[in-house]
Amino acid sequence: MPELPEVETFRRRIEAGALNRTIAGIRPGNDTCHVELPDAAALTQFEGHQFTQTRRHGKYIFVGSASGPWLNLHMGMSGSVRVYDVAEGDPDYARLVVSFEGDRRMAFRDPRKFGWIRVVEDPDAEIARLGLGPDALEIDAAGFADRMEGRGAIKSALLDQAKVCGIGNLWADETLYQTGIHPDTRAGDLSEAQRADLHRAFGRILKSVSDVDAHYADLPDPWLIHRRKAGHECGRCEGTIASRKVGGRTSFFCADHQDRVS
Ligand SMILES: [Zn+2]
Repeated sequence: MPELPEVETFRRRIEAGALNRTIAGIRPGNDTCHVELPDAAALTQFEGHQFTQTRRHGKYIFVGSASGPWLNLHMGMSGSVRVYDVAEGDPDYARLVVSFEGDRRMAFRDPRKFGWIRVVEDPDAEIARLGLGPDALEIDAAGFADRMEGRGAIKSALLDQAKVCGIGNLWADETLYQTGIHPDTRAGDLSEAQRADLHRAFGRILKSVSDVDAHYADLPDPWLIHRRKAGHECGRCEGTIASRKVGGRTSFFCADHQDRVS
């Protein structure tokens, strides 16, 4: 599933190859049955305009211009964005294709069809309507600390998109592993120092993964991402990796160095 770093990689692709070009047309791709796409009238209003800005909030991408409208893309389970020239042909599973004047094209690909595209006038209003919290790479330490409260497990709090937007299952586990906090720990029982550690850790982790274009093999060897298997040896201590469900999501952690507080 595309997580924040993959989505950031797609946003960078759009920014590098699809801005400030006049849009000739936007059309549905192939086999769009059961894919949520804007209707033809909504797409027509982009013709003759240019995308001049991109924005990512959590796992949502917005591409548009200051005066709007914007395309809002959500990648679902398998979505991605390609920017290419017409001679290369549309990629497989292209569900929406933007044609710019000249040869440049941009496609939203989605093999499994859980993603969607909507037209919105104002990204901030849409983020509020969706009930999303601050973006994980933008929230500050104090704002984060205030949101990690209550009796629920810290793992569930990190995944709650209304608290902090963009931390998915993989990087929630990685953050807890790297800070030595057990996923079952009650959010409200964390010390101030632990909240500050968590904030620093997920910021550094998400940025590191984005900076290697989400090629996980390039991430440091001790990371949990390379050992998400029960019984695997821990990369940070002599312990072994365990697995259990927390808040309905499978969590991997080291029972030795991730201390249970409550
Ligand atoms: Zn360990």
